Amino acid sequence: MFSIQQNIEELRKTIDGNIKIIAVSKTKSEQEIMELYNCGQRIFGENKVQELLSKYKNLPKDIEWHLIGHLQTNKVKDVVSFVSLIHSVDSPKLLGEIDKEAKKQNKIVNCLLQIYISDDETKYGFEKIFLEELLKSEMLEELKNVKILGLMGIATNTDDEQQIKKEFKQLKLLFEQTKNNYFAHSEEFKELSIGMSGDYKIAIKQGSTMIRIGSLIFGERNYF
Ligand SMILES: *Cc1c(COP(=O)(O)O)cnc(C)c1O
Repeated sequence: MFSIQQNIEELRKTIDGNIKIIAVSKTKSEQEIMELYNCGQRIFGENKVQELLSKYKNLPKDIEWHLIGHLQTNKVKDVVSFVSLIHSVDSPKLLGEIDKEAKKQNKIVNCLLQIYISDDETKYGFEKIFLEELLKSEMLEELKNVKILGLMGIATNTDDEQQIKKEFKQLKLLFEQTKNNYFAHSEEFKELSIGMSGDYKIAIKQGSTMIRIGSLIFGERNYF
């Protein structure tokens, strides 16, 4: 028997309470989101701006909306006013654009830098070498309206658990290095967003602080 309530309760039982669950509600209806909301869930993740906007408009205002999918620069202005965290900042240009819009709207926007860690060719993210470049540059100092809370990654879509573990481990290492080298005096740089329905247990062992869970809570997605 499938039930959103049972699924979330099962999941909560198996993980440490300090780890945040981002309920990935893409393609799911507002009714399904409300069902989970009524189980106490307040953090929801969407990967498409259009869908995020309409759900934000129609659903309770105490929901924390996280954007987890690729963000085009021309859509930045639509999300800056209300989004709680953007997991998917994948270029310096996008980061600059978010800062610019945030400044206009008198906001500080929380961001994670998405790092490319997988073998899959379609996934967005910073190559590690460009991350280093960004961190070394003066740019970060100048961006006063974005706050970088940590790193995000998506592992290769594979059954090979050793490979997934290796990718997460490398990202955790990069996270530690980045923290030590560039955010040593920041209390804010502390989030590592890794782990989805298929690999969250591996991710947690490697130090995840935020897991992004869709199908395990809501059931398989149907794309029409
Ligand atoms: C869809 C999606 C998820 C959740 O995937 P599930 O396998 O359904 O848990 C997590 N992260 C991102 C970036 C996604 O696009």
